[in-house]
Amino acid sequence: MSFRTICSLALAAVARGAQVEPDATDHVFATGAGSWAAAYSQASSALSKLSQNDKVSLVSGIGWNKGPCVGNTAAIGSIGYPQLCLQDGPLGVRYGTGVTAFTPGIMAASTWDTELMRQRGAFMGAEAKGCGVNVLLGPVGGPLGKHAVGGRNWEGFGPDPYLTGIAMAETIEGMQSSGVQASAKHFIGNEQELNRETMSSNIDDRTLHELYLWPFADAVHANVASVMCSYNKLNSTWACESPRMLNSILKDELGFQGYVMSDWNAQHTTTGAANGGMDMTMPGSDYNGKTILWGPQLNSAVSSNQVSKARLDDMAKRILAAWYLTGQSSGYPGINIKANVQSNHKENVRAVARDGIVLLKNNGILPLKKPSKIAVIGSAAVSNPQGINSCKDRGCNTGALGMGWGSGTADYPYFSAPYDVIKAKGQSEGATVTLSNADSSSGASAASGADAAIVFITSDSGEGYITVERVAGDRNDLDPWHGGNQLVQAVASANKNTIVVVHSVGPVILESILALPGVQAVVWAGLPSQESGNALVDVLWGAVSPSGKLPYTIAQRASDYASSPSRGDDNFQEGLFIDYRHFDKAGIAPRFEFGFGLCKEPSNVSGHMT
Ligand code: BGC
Repeated sequence: MSFRTICSLALAAVARGAQVEPDATDHVFATGAGSWAAAYSQASSALSKLSQNDKVSLVSGIGWNKGPCVGNTAAIGSIGYPQLCLQDGPLGVRYGTGVTAFTPGIMAASTWDTELMRQRGAFMGAEAKGCGVNVLLGPVGGPLGKHAVGGRNWEGFGPDPYLTGIAMAETIEGMQSSGVQASAKHFIGNEQELNRETMSSNIDDRTLHELYLWPFADAVHANVASVMCSYNKLNSTWACESPRMLNSILKDELGFQGYVMSDWNAQHTTTGAANGGMDMTMPGSDYNGKTILWGPQLNSAVSSNQVSKARLDDMAKRILAAWYLTGQSSGYPGINIKANVQSNHKENVRAVARDGIVLLKNNGILPLKKPSKIAVIGSAAVSNPQGINSCKDRGCNTGALGMGWGSGTADYPYFSAPYDVIKAKGQSEGATVTLSNADSSSGASAASGADAAIVFITSDSGEGYITVERVAGDRNDLDPWHGGNQLVQAVASANKNTIVVVHSVGPVILESILALPGVQAVVWAGLPSQESGNALVDVLWGAVSPSGKLPYTIAQRASDYASSPSRGDDNFQEGLFIDYRHFDKAGIAPRFEFGFGLCKEPSNVSGHMT
């Protein structure tokens, strides 16, 4: 390619707001700065005992399904280094059978409570350690939530970078204080499930720094052990081999001292990734039919000087330093994913699930005042009739919704179903409590004559490797699933004391529901995980005042949001203006703004419409 062609390509890239990728010439070697100093001196002395083969094995996963965890590297006996276990994920130990299913990140964000966030991190870290997991793959700082329908937004903390940054830091410090290594993911620009493994996210420098990078900067300042590079391309270069992102920005500008690991098979070349700043490949084998790119290939690339020995040393040192930093070099338990490690951690789940509930509307019906006849309506009021963990990786929306689907899930040890707890509470006060979980007409007849009709609706999303009811990860729309609008309409026309409870991964358009005179209250119960019913009843009966605040904007129309998933590359044209910033800039009145949440009754406020 001629110089003229390169220049015109570069100019075209700049014209559409993209940054030009620098050459992969300058490596950024870890310095062991700040609180990493002791860990780096231990890492340096361990490194001096390792052969080139050892170093390569430290940075290369042993393969998909070849070890007890979703990611594994080989043990190195000479320095007492274990078979490293890397396990999902952001709300607890995936595939654990004796673990807590913590609330998703988005629920923690909606508490705005830094102590609960930190405790959640510390408890997840303690459970991971108890299971012998060395690296728990979370928290999630990207997707940030550029698209309201983004399938994995619920794994993280919402579209405000400041809130997400605080939540990332609290979670990481909590996790690492318990001894597990955190992995801040997905770095960076992986804002949609559609075509996540082929598309390029073209992000201008200011937007990158002020929006998408911000939470990762907080993660680095919290001494995060590792960062997971994402599947997508960044300004036309794969995120896992982008010298600009990994070397210039993450390691140089932010001073990241830990290691960059690939998302599962997000690596594309042997030398490009090594020289681009990636430090560990996962899972390291023919996962989904892909070829091995490190291991023996990296060994040859180092021997033939395509990758320098210094670069390999830096990769290995970063990984060893993270292991020492988190105190894993002595007394760390062996791998036992089936260990029972729940302790009292459900208390954090209940507190987050309760304090994250956002009261959107209340005409005085809440808290409930000893109703004598309560109708509970909707299939989402009860546990999944096929079993609480019957859908692998929560890949269905059947029964009550406690989390989205995908790798960022854990199995429920139990599920506190809304109907069960409402029934117990109502009956303890002498009420008759009935359930209707069939269709709209039976819902309406159940509601008729009750003192309160509590109706449940949902909206779900998840990771793109599972499709649920034609939703292939990202949501297709922002309407409630399973005819939720029609169900509420039927119930509210039969009962003027209707309370709507919404369990959702993100914003839902509520206009038709809010227009119904029979709807007296709307309770935004988010994603409460295993403590769903207990948390809800605390708020419905007024054991606590609702204190959650929305971590995103609820619009009047789906088209009010700034963007939707792109079929091909995405130029991130809205720049900084995602979620509430877009509404402010474009002068669009939201239905419920970011940060909205009623805290006391009675109130006739139902949004801040002007
Ligand atoms: C996901 C990661 C996850 C990894 C391992 C990938 O598909 O994007 O978030 O940690 O799989 O399960």
